[in-house]
Amino acid sequence: MPCILAPLCWNTIQAVMATDNILDGKSLARELRAEMASRVQNAVAAGVRPPGLAVILVGDNPASQVYVRNKQKACTETGIASLPFLLPETVTTQELLEVIQNLNGREDIDGILLQLPLPPHIDARACLNAIDPDKDVDGFHPINMGRLALGLPGFAPCTPLGVMELLRRNGISVAGKKAVIVGRSDIVGRPLALLLSRKEANATVTICHSGTPDLKKECLSADLLFLALGKPAAIGADMVREGCVVVDIGINRTESGLCGDADFAGICKKAAAITPVPGGVGPMTIAMLLANTLKSWEQRAGTR
Ligand code: NAP
Repeated sequence: MPCILAPLCWNTIQAVMATDNILDGKSLARELRAEMASRVQNAVAAGVRPPGLAVILVGDNPASQVYVRNKQKACTETGIASLPFLLPETVTTQELLEVIQNLNGREDIDGILLQLPLPPHIDARACLNAIDPDKDVDGFHPINMGRLALGLPGFAPCTPLGVMELLRRNGISVAGKKAVIVGRSDIVGRPLALLLSRKEANATVTICHSGTPDLKKECLSADLLFLALGKPAAIGADMVREGCVVVDIGINRTESGLCGDADFAGICKKAAAITPVPGGVGPMTIAMLLANTLKSWEQRAGTR
């Protein structure tokens, strides 16, 4: 179904960008890239090899191609060597596993990114599980999920990490607040709940999903509302209380362009802060991919 709110969303985003309740992920991601580029530059000048990220793309899904291009551009800007592995749609699970095993053994590769979704004939879980957990900069490996759940050092998924960094850098504390997350996927909702409920964050977390009986009631109870449903403008202003912080993680492609899961125009009049789509969480996700790659590089290349 086309999102009739989408054209209005983008005009409104531009109109209200100047106001102070917009959480501008695009500018913050630019700042973070500059900080990381300077870390890389200093280490390379001191003789350390540059960080390396292998990016595996299977097939020719246009959205995946755009995501991969954006990630590679961000790598180049930061001084990370990004090595593309473009495999045909017809590649088998076994062939893909061999590519991953080879990358696991390479000294110059600090991170391995397997762009999702994979074609249906590929065993995606087997391929994700084959990535060395210490090079799993997307944080999707069960070992890293387990580390996250137990509060052990490891890689957390980039989108939830980006959300936490966006709040932190904007001075929004989550401690003692009621956080409501709509969506329980393994890559967004569930790991975000783990990060928010850690002792260092101290939010009280509710996770909603398609089986939640009264979604509106849950959303209205939130001090911080995180939207990751993947449904264009599904959450209206009537579902958000005055003064709430709304983090719209959804990215929906509609006939009129990209829009989030929130009715941005309505909600930005009530919210204490809100992320736009595009320009909110999306750029922060890429920034955290770079941050995870640098973390691996600093451990592996011995810069720390
Ligand atoms: P997903 O795997 O499809 O999960 C969607 C979740 O939303 C599921 O838990 C589902 O419930 C729940 N849900 C769907 N409709 C609902 C409804 N009407 N009421 C309550 N819950 C509902 O999606 P995802 O991978 O987490 O992605 C979610 C959105 O975030 C997408 O738009 C995606 O493009 C976007 N995204 C953005 C970034 C970024 O960088 N900004 C990164 C990743 C994803 P059930 O579990 O019951 O099915």
